[in-house]
Amino acid sequence: MCGIFGISNHKEAARLTYLGLYALQHRGEESAGIVVRHGKKIEIHKGMGLVGDVFTERDIKSLRGDLAIGHVRYSTTGSSSTKNIQPYFVRHKKDKIVIAHNGNLTNSFELRNEMEQDGSIFQTTMDSEIIAHLLARSRKSDTEENIANALSQLEGAYSLVLMLGELLIGARDIYGWRPLCLGRLDGAYVLASETCALDLIQAQYIRDIEPGEIVFIDKGNVKSINISPETLSPKARLASCIFEYIYFARPDSNIFGHNVYKTRKSLGRQLARECPADCDIVMPIPDSGNYAALGFSKECGIPFEVGMIRNHYVGRTFIQPSQFIRDFRVKVKLNPIRDVLKGKRVVIVEDSIVRGTTSKIRVKTIRESGAKEVHMRVSCPPLRFPCFYGIDFPTKKELIASRHSIDWVRDFIGADSLEYLSLEGMLKAMPLPKNHFCTACFNGDYPTKLPKKLGKGALEY
Ligand code: AMP
Repeated sequence: MCGIFGISNHKEAARLTYLGLYALQHRGEESAGIVVRHGKKIEIHKGMGLVGDVFTERDIKSLRGDLAIGHVRYSTTGSSSTKNIQPYFVRHKKDKIVIAHNGNLTNSFELRNEMEQDGSIFQTTMDSEIIAHLLARSRKSDTEENIANALSQLEGAYSLVLMLGELLIGARDIYGWRPLCLGRLDGAYVLASETCALDLIQAQYIRDIEPGEIVFIDKGNVKSINISPETLSPKARLASCIFEYIYFARPDSNIFGHNVYKTRKSLGRQLARECPADCDIVMPIPDSGNYAALGFSKECGIPFEVGMIRNHYVGRTFIQPSQFIRDFRVKVKLNPIRDVLKGKRVVIVEDSIVRGTTSKIRVKTIRESGAKEVHMRVSCPPLRFPCFYGIDFPTKKELIASRHSIDWVRDFIGADSLEYLSLEGMLKAMPLPKNHFCTACFNGDYPTKLPKKLGKGALEY
């Protein structure tokens, strides 16, 4: 997963990009980067770590120019190394190309192979480098056709922010997997993965970039074209990632045209209708379960309580205590409130179960804090299939619900009962029609051919 941002025609382009990335930090904590165009010069600052750690005031000041793009990375393909930090920048005789990408291509193996056989040399393991090669090789006469031609060769998921010469370009794959929106701030145009980035810089939301759309922003002008449809698979359909609504996007964002918070609450309401629990209190696992738990409580009338408190100051690293404090890494994040839990029949609402390991520890902690019964309700169906489009789900082997029955998972996590929202219920709670979504992680209905190398291994037990 990743967060992408771009701004054209603003004298504080780098500072606004920094703020935009700050708002998108949840989409990737591994590395961050900003590239700015200043006259004909390109200036870059990148590093491993959080946005707040990678950039100092001095760095931002040194990034002069009125066109900038930025990226926060959560590596799903490509290794976690400084070489793979985005935005990806190459000089080419046609122009300077800068790319920020969110999503995973499913034909990158084939494209790379073909190009390598043709003599191309790759320096990173990122999909973005493939896109740069396609752009550089395209032989069409004008920029728009060149880009459309290059993008029409990609299969899979991509939301892109590009800088090509003085142009800022935004594009979304025809399936509409990952979000990308357009905003306006004074005379500047802004592209961002989520609207929470526009809010922070006080830009006005204009609209989402449509699936299959490419927008060209030339200072104050926006032009839109479609990725050439004749080259696209006739089977292509809309496939926005439903997991963005369930877990990934920020609740204060609107993605695919609708608010994430309200959608999570409506998932919680549907869950309460389908899988009620006879309990004294409803509690979330903070923060991701908060909104579904609120909806669950509203629907069934059982009081909502915050039974665990999150420590907001937990960084990526801390000095490990000696062995006698077991599960320290998990405990330091969330601490139960005994006075709330003692003697209570508790229903925990969780947004999803992936491997089951953190859920197991949470249930145990809540029980040890005096809860009489601990039930778990999950606001999406069992995750049984890996994602090839950008969500960091493990292989089928590691997804607990793909190998085991719900009863087995219940016993593993140590809950008194465990129930999941049904696929139909989840789709019913969505603000868009069901044919708008990719639900492959739940039912294995992959909208594209699977990636050649990855696909097979990931699906094996
Ligand atoms: P576990 O009990 O170990 O399966 O952890 C489940 C929790 O991980 C859920 O509450 C989610 O908030 C969170 N989660 C969901 N998807 C992911 C993901 N792709 N990567 C990391 N954490 C996730």
